[in-house]
Amino acid sequence: MATTILNGRELAQTLLKEQTEKVAELVRKKGRPPGLAVVLVGEDPASRTYVGSKRDSCRKAGIYAPDINLPVDTPQSVIEEKIDQLNRDPRVDGILVQLPLPKQIVKDEILYRIDPGKDVDGFHPVNVGRLVIGMKTLAPCTPTGIITLLDRYGLSIAGKHAVVVGRSLIVGKPMALLLLARDATVTICHSRTHDLQGETRRADILVAAIGRAHAITKDHVKPGVVVIDVGMNRNAEGKLVGDVDFQGVFPLSSAITPVPGGVGPMTIATLLENTIRAFCLHEGLPHP
Ligand code: NDP
Repeated sequence: MATTILNGRELAQTLLKEQTEKVAELVRKKGRPPGLAVVLVGEDPASRTYVGSKRDSCRKAGIYAPDINLPVDTPQSVIEEKIDQLNRDPRVDGILVQLPLPKQIVKDEILYRIDPGKDVDGFHPVNVGRLVIGMKTLAPCTPTGIITLLDRYGLSIAGKHAVVVGRSLIVGKPMALLLLARDATVTICHSRTHDLQGETRRADILVAAIGRAHAITKDHVKPGVVVIDVGMNRNAEGKLVGDVDFQGVFPLSSAITPVPGGVGPMTIATLLENTIRAFCLHEGLPHP
């Protein structure tokens, strides 16, 4: 069976070109670019890298992306004041607080303080609620990026049996809701699922968001499956590996994402998309 590699890195480049053109058009129309404030608290090396990539991609597309870096011992009240200020700032359409936050910070109080109209991560209860109801909303970037990846590769979703392994608020749950909104029949699995293999072997579309290297093997899939590997794990040699045993699963799948270069780049591309969407919302322009 010929297997398509779902190349998220390449698609993200295409999207960046499209977004750059879109941003230029918006500047012509409204006299300002969309703005995204990525807030970094502390010096965590992985977070610094992620934040750097997010800001770089924004700037490449022409999006206003100020550096907001706060020291690791910043008190809760100071971060909250910063969020309030960004909520009021007319140059800022999107606010993202990089996780994890230092241990003295109550994360949810920070995330829920962000204006839902600027919540480009889609974590605010208002946006989660809109997603559940089936309204247009700012939905979390990783699962939204996966839907874009499937669409751009022409892989149909409606009527397919999608199995999502993982039920986090960042990936698993919104993924299941987005697939459901596209008329898939959805099963959600988690650490207490009795017969994981039995469930995953029924999948036409299998999304692995577990956080355990190579948890999904050839014994978990049926021939022809479309496999989306969200996992980002470090193996013993420090190499980035997915939740799926790519070598074993590849020959059985009709399409599969690599790690790295699959879902990861689509997450950042979708962050830019959500920022543009938030801008259109604020400026009263039609938005997808
Ligand atoms: P969480 O740890 O929040 O969730 C993991 C989920 O997997 C939980 O629902 C858990 O079940 C389930 N799980 C754990 N072990 C098993 C098992 N043995 N069998 C079945 N289910 C299991 O992780 P995230 O959702 O935040 O992230 C998942 C992975 O995706 C990580 O590797 C993360 O790094 C990566 N990631 C990648 C992104 C990207 O852009 N590529 C973005 C975000 C995350 P339970 O609820 O019962 O505990």
